[in-house]
Amino acid sequence: MPWRTGPRARAAGIRPDPYRVWLSEIMLQQTTVAAVRPYFEAFTARWPDVTALAAAEDAEVMAAWAGLGYYARARNLLKCARAVAGEHGGVFPADHAALLKLPGIGPYTAAAVAAIAFDIPATVVDGNVERVMARLHDEPTPLPAAKPVLTRLAADLTPETRPGDYAQAVMDLGATICTPRNPACGLCPWRPSCAGWHAGTAPALPAKTPKARKPIRRGIAYLARRVDGAWLLETRPEKGLLGGMLGWPGSDWIDAAAGAPTDAPPIRAEWKTLPEEARHTFTHFHLRLEIRTALVPMDRTPERGGFVPLEEFRPADLPTVMRKAFDLARPR
Ligand code: SF4
Repeated sequence: MPWRTGPRARAAGIRPDPYRVWLSEIMLQQTTVAAVRPYFEAFTARWPDVTALAAAEDAEVMAAWAGLGYYARARNLLKCARAVAGEHGGVFPADHAALLKLPGIGPYTAAAVAAIAFDIPATVVDGNVERVMARLHDEPTPLPAAKPVLTRLAADLTPETRPGDYAQAVMDLGATICTPRNPACGLCPWRPSCAGWHAGTAPALPAKTPKARKPIRRGIAYLARRVDGAWLLETRPEKGLLGGMLGWPGSDWIDAAAGAPTDAPPIRAEWKTLPEEARHTFTHFHLRLEIRTALVPMDRTPERGGFVPLEEFRPADLPTVMRKAFDLARPR
């Protein structure tokens, strides 16, 4: 992984770059290594250090983040970069408590940066570590109630020496050997002391409290194209889902059980409804987006948003749900 500094390099005195560690940890939240890799490489090529990132335009960073999801992370990324540049002289503080005070850095990320970048014996607990701890100790309490006990068990094992290598090793063990299904116990260095393996309970751990079903929300997206090819787009409000991202003007997204979304066309036009709807799943709900399209003359002024000339419009800058809507409308 391009953000890693291996044990051999560390032994040779090469220290991990805190900027790269922090950036990778923020990107990896809720996302896979495979999805993050190209974004990480693009970000570090364009903004090689935290000072460069802090000086970037908001819109540039939001556009570069498009497709990675959970856009609040991108806004906090910029806030954090600016705090490090403005309040810490462009250097990440080598202090767990100071890291925790930075915007967008929660207990997990603070511990990961402290341990990996600075070799501070902070306890790093992600989903992989929770799973390994539950199995190693045959802990029957279901998640999320088990979180405090799994964190304590992980803290008991965190060593004073090489805590950064240790943190990455446990996370990697969880990601590659102690996997959610079919753990490869035959390859595991911890098997002799693994209570879950001895008891035969390991594959079923950690136990989980059944999740409530996600509700469905409905909304309408309006895709207006001017006769010169420009598209009508708007920047979404800072607060709320996809905050600060570019998107199609639309209705509020309301609970499907509460009725139909309110018609809210951003410009006077003859709107046509597509037979397909864009579907997307967010953390807490499924979205069904009705798509309306229109071709509008040059002299018509929108009530919301602004026209983006065809040569400046890059579908890749849109968040995924907005791009799905565009992909459905484009053939028409
Ligand atoms: S022995 Fe199996 S269950 Fe136990 S930690 Fe190793 S991979 Fe996980």
